[in-house]
Amino acid sequence: MRGQRKFCWVFDLDDTLMWTSYAYSIAFREFYDYMLKLFKYRLIELRTLGTISEKIDLELRTEVNPTLGVPYGYSRHRFPESLSRTYQMLCEKGFGRFNELVASRVRDIGYRAFDPLFYQEQGLVEGGKETLDFLQTREDELVLVTKGDDLVQKTKIEILELDRWFGDEIHIVNSKTREDFERMRQRFPEHTLISVGNSFESDIKPAIQARLYGLYIPYHTWAAEPEREPDEVNSKVFKIDRIFKIFYFVGTNELFTTPA
Ligand SMILES: [Mg+2]
Repeated sequence: MRGQRKFCWVFDLDDTLMWTSYAYSIAFREFYDYMLKLFKYRLIELRTLGTISEKIDLELRTEVNPTLGVPYGYSRHRFPESLSRTYQMLCEKGFGRFNELVASRVRDIGYRAFDPLFYQEQGLVEGGKETLDFLQTREDELVLVTKGDDLVQKTKIEILELDRWFGDEIHIVNSKTREDFERMRQRFPEHTLISVGNSFESDIKPAIQARLYGLYIPYHTWAAEPEREPDEVNSKVFKIDRIFKIFYFVGTNELFTTPA
């Protein structure tokens, strides 16, 4: 039996409902293989180059993309450019002579990280579909709020057929702030809202500041999202390790087992 409470789940997409590191890793491996052959196997180790390249990628976030006149930020152009800059750095360090055609080819490899085929192959995270089906059967409200490149996020949403669960409640945003979550709460005044996501800084902290509940499923993917545990025990934050534990959470947490 359902209690009197009505629930609204605000889901994050990247590394909550789908894994994102796979496609980046494939692209980076392809880039590494290309460099390896280009420089005739005289090349620093893959893991070392990965660390250097990630640093270049992070620094690019605040740099203005000359083609578009806006910072690279979280756009799809940042990662390919970071590979091209990594190639350029290798040339400056004497591994080879810089060539603009090679740089262009390297950028193409970078764009492979956004190949829709990868999203299709991977699908949702394990148990993701069953979890969303379950919440939908409970007649809970489901909202998707995702940060990132508009075209990339739209493509993921389309390929993963997320409208099956989220309908019109799909929002691609530039930020997830306390104000954003407050507006969300005002839109569902009769509901208990729970923000679900892998990033404490983006999905949980601003949500609890806006007096939502937070369901934290930690998953550290890259340096731009530092892994951060809750500073203090907060009664509005719950933590599970995998998305399918939502079944257990709903079955046992007093938010669900006692009436409002
Ligand atoms: Mg995420």
